[in-house]
Amino acid sequence: MKELSWAREELLRRLELLDAKLGEIDREIRTIEEGLKDIHPQAAVVTKYVSCGKKNCHCMEPGDRGHGPYFYLVYREHGKVITRYLGKKAPPRDGIPSQEYRRLLAQLKRLRDQREDILRRVSQAISSLEI
Ligand SMILES: [Zn+2]
Repeated sequence: MKELSWAREELLRRLELLDAKLGEIDREIRTIEEGLKDIHPQAAVVTKYVSCGKKNCHCMEPGDRGHGPYFYLVYREHGKVITRYLGKKAPPRDGIPSQEYRRLLAQLKRLRDQREDILRRVSQAISSLEI
């Protein structure tokens, strides 16, 4: 009988640890989800005509559309609008996936897997307590 209550206490202690870990993971997941909200997975590709600023260039004449078109990638990262020059050629249709976005998604998946694992261990621990 004494043996059994020791095992019970040990299991309860482990459950508490798992519960704390779960809380930690949930907080991390929420932080990442917040971060993901801020990023557009499909950043917009826009074209622009620009002026080079040289005095005698046609682009300085009124009504001239300037040089281009040039392609730019526009996306949001941590609340800031980022414009990145891509070049004179149109980028592939599927665009350029935001590295940050993919990194966060991978991190989120890892945390969710960990969460699943902990929940499984908790339910195992609970069912062994019921014996
Ligand atoms: Zn010019």
